[in-house]
Amino acid sequence: MTNLAAGLLRTAERFPDRPALRLGDDVMTYAQLDDASARVVTYLRLCGVQPGDRVGLMLPNVPQFAVAYYGILRAGAVVVPMNPLLKGREVDFYLDDSEAAGMLAWYGGVDQGAAREGDRVSLVVEPSSFAELLAGHEPTPGLVERDGQDTAVVLYTSGTTGQPKGAELTHDNLRRNAEVTSTTLVDLSHEDVLFGALPLFHSFGQTVALNCAVRTGACLTLLPRFDPEQALAILTGHRVTVFAGVPTMFGALLNAAGTDDHDLSALRVCVSGGAALPVELLHRFERRFGTMILEGYGLSETSPVASFNHPDRPRKPGTIGTPIEGVEMRLAGPGGEDVPDGEVGEILIRGHNVMKGYWRRPDATAEAIVDGWLRTGDLARRDTDGYYAIVDRTKDLVIRGGYNVYPREVEEVLYEHPAVAEAAVLGMPHRTLGEEVVAVVALRPGASATGEELREHVKGQIAAYKYPRQVWIVDALPKGATGKILKRSITVPPQQPQ
Ligand code: AMP
Repeated sequence: MTNLAAGLLRTAERFPDRPALRLGDDVMTYAQLDDASARVVTYLRLCGVQPGDRVGLMLPNVPQFAVAYYGILRAGAVVVPMNPLLKGREVDFYLDDSEAAGMLAWYGGVDQGAAREGDRVSLVVEPSSFAELLAGHEPTPGLVERDGQDTAVVLYTSGTTGQPKGAELTHDNLRRNAEVTSTTLVDLSHEDVLFGALPLFHSFGQTVALNCAVRTGACLTLLPRFDPEQALAILTGHRVTVFAGVPTMFGALLNAAGTDDHDLSALRVCVSGGAALPVELLHRFERRFGTMILEGYGLSETSPVASFNHPDRPRKPGTIGTPIEGVEMRLAGPGGEDVPDGEVGEILIRGHNVMKGYWRRPDATAEAIVDGWLRTGDLARRDTDGYYAIVDRTKDLVIRGGYNVYPREVEEVLYEHPAVAEAAVLGMPHRTLGEEVVAVVALRPGASATGEELREHVKGQIAAYKYPRQVWIVDALPKGATGKILKRSITVPPQQPQ
């Protein structure tokens, strides 16, 4: 069975009474998840949803997300996940662009512009009506067979350029990515407790938390909105064994923990991805909590995992490891030519994880996938052992007086300063140099340092053309839905986020 949802059916048969999802003290078992998602199938059919139809899904990290997600897949339809913070016109864009047949969502106090009652938009408004939806429909057992190459999820992403585009991820893409991640990378078992702090509407949370848990029978303990204090309480209280997060989450946990005692002895492995994990932060976190962080790399377009610091190979902090099983990576120069080890090139990816294309955007697809290789827009070096180290995104490169400055390298040095919690290095327009290197930094709670001091700290350690001529200190850096620092939202001189 190639439908991604077949994994749920198998797990529900093997481990019916094991906890599948947990939110606070509420637990849903695999039998209950199976039953509830089968009821969603009945509901969707009554609404006229056909196999292959797109269905919007706009829910926070609550068990109903998983119920709806697997319900849509079991019906043979295609999930279009959406950030619950989207406003009316954005929701309209996603629904129109994907030509969605309907949508499962609840709004709370949401922008009612989005609550468009049309012939194709069906709406579940409150959590209680979701419960009614389930209670009011008998389960439809089994699932609609799908071909591995059929689209399972249309995941909107801005990719390397502008307007959001829907990456079409197939049942095979997602199934194999969860399979490789859970078996060869984190060695997941039904005894594990995964922490679902990453948003499930994003590819990282969907594969590495939800789909990995469901295929193995592990428990996924959810947190609707990342908050470091609550996260610590869950990590200790629920005896979490595996935690996948973005670097800002590891930093925030470290800060929130302070010097208090926190028993994270159950936490056997953490996975970091989505953005570069500063080496200093990795070491600090590991020392503080006595656990291990494995850094991986990927994109929405690669389902998302593409490379990883494999647990059975020597780990190299500061790198994204080597390609995962069944996936190839190479580095290309501007003309597409291979780049030798040690030099910078754009990462290209080929393998079972690469999307089918962008939904109804043949031109964008042709630009992104050339001869089967996905162009990532990420710049990296490969060492002689085959490990890749990201130097930056093509777009984030700062060119100062003709010299390339990779912000990542400068940020690493900033993070080594004990007062620094978060750092972003950017280019600022400059009359003669074209661009000048500057930095915006948030300090750790209780720490103090001046911009001047931080500038001098970096100046002493890297080439003169690279150090930031100005360092501004702000309360916090702007972050996206997953918690990644949004460099493009930072203005210099900075305005403090509201
Ligand atoms: P998204 O499609 O939102 O998952 O974003 C994918 C992008 O995140 C990639 O193209 C990279 O620029 C960035 N990214 C993901 N993982 C890493 C990592 N380990 N180090 C540096 N950048 C990363």
